[in-house]
Amino acid sequence: MTQTSHPDCFKCRHLKVTWRPERPYACLAMGFSSRQIPWQVVLNASGQPCMLFEPKPQRPSS
Ligand code: SF4
Repeated sequence: MTQTSHPDCFKCRHLKVTWRPERPYACLAMGFSSRQIPWQVVLNASGQPCMLFEPKPQRPSS
């Protein structure tokens, strides 16, 4: 059995690091903060991978 695929929150523009030790991550698109990486929360709660992933804007390379 293969692992369910999921988006990479660290590459998503909706991820925010809160710096709060008890809930260090926040998903701005879904409006929650959590201890787990948000994709894990979404998958555990809904049984489906997050569908709201949007890539971060590219940074200039220089
Ligand atoms: S929208 Fe999805 S991929 Fe983006 S931070 Fe939230 S849970 Fe992660």
